[in-house]
Amino acid sequence: MEMISIKSPAEIEKMRAAGRLTAQARALAGSMIRPGVTTAEIDKAVRKFIVSHGAKPSFLSYNGFPASICASVNEVVIHGIPSHEKLKEGDIVSIDVGAYLNGYHGDCAATYACGEISPEAQKLIDVTRQSFFEGIKLARVGQRVSDVSHAVQQYVESFGFGVVRDFVGHGVGREMHEPPEVPNFGAAGHGARFQPGMVIAVEPMVCMGDWRVRVLRDRWTTVSADGSLAAHYENTILITDGEPEILTVDENGEPA
Ligand code: MG
Repeated sequence: MEMISIKSPAEIEKMRAAGRLTAQARALAGSMIRPGVTTAEIDKAVRKFIVSHGAKPSFLSYNGFPASICASVNEVVIHGIPSHEKLKEGDIVSIDVGAYLNGYHGDCAATYACGEISPEAQKLIDVTRQSFFEGIKLARVGQRVSDVSHAVQQYVESFGFGVVRDFVGHGVGREMHEPPEVPNFGAAGHGARFQPGMVIAVEPMVCMGDWRVRVLRDRWTTVSADGSLAAHYENTILITDGEPEILTVDENGEPA
């Protein structure tokens, strides 16, 4: 198994700065979502915001990805490519963004309502978000990575929703994707033991129906195989001696 990096206090300070900028970029994207706007417009604004703060969009050109955000609408789970199509009333839009500042990445995501959405869609968004918080209750010393995975899965499935298996959370640091992998499913009691100074992205991806997904021919856009709505929620967190610290928080210390 590859080594999981333990961040020094100086590195943690830099990761707090990267995390805050990333969360602000997510909030900017979320604030722009309304009927008639395009995800290409949101992408452009987020790129300008990140660059104007002396950072680089982590996703731009990553394995050839053509944009600074992933914008995943309705049945798109993750890795949606921003487009010139106008958003419509009732859409749900998952925004995933990363920023690279002073040598470290932040990574976060959330799903936003476009105008008025159905109660079912809102429930999906709420359950996906809460599953992150249920999971990170176990992201502490004395627990192992799959304890988080198991808690996320249990919570999501208790509502009859499907939790995606093909994509997982990950360590974050000098690289956007570091060990360990952090699945959102599986039996408890496996994987690395949490230690203070580990930084991971926990990111439940949830379908209203079945958990299976497929990737479209553009090799990025990942949709629910059954066409059901999907949601995504992610923060970068630091393992401490006590409660985990969410690094992707805005200037008021709040995640999305
Ligand atoms: Mg991520």
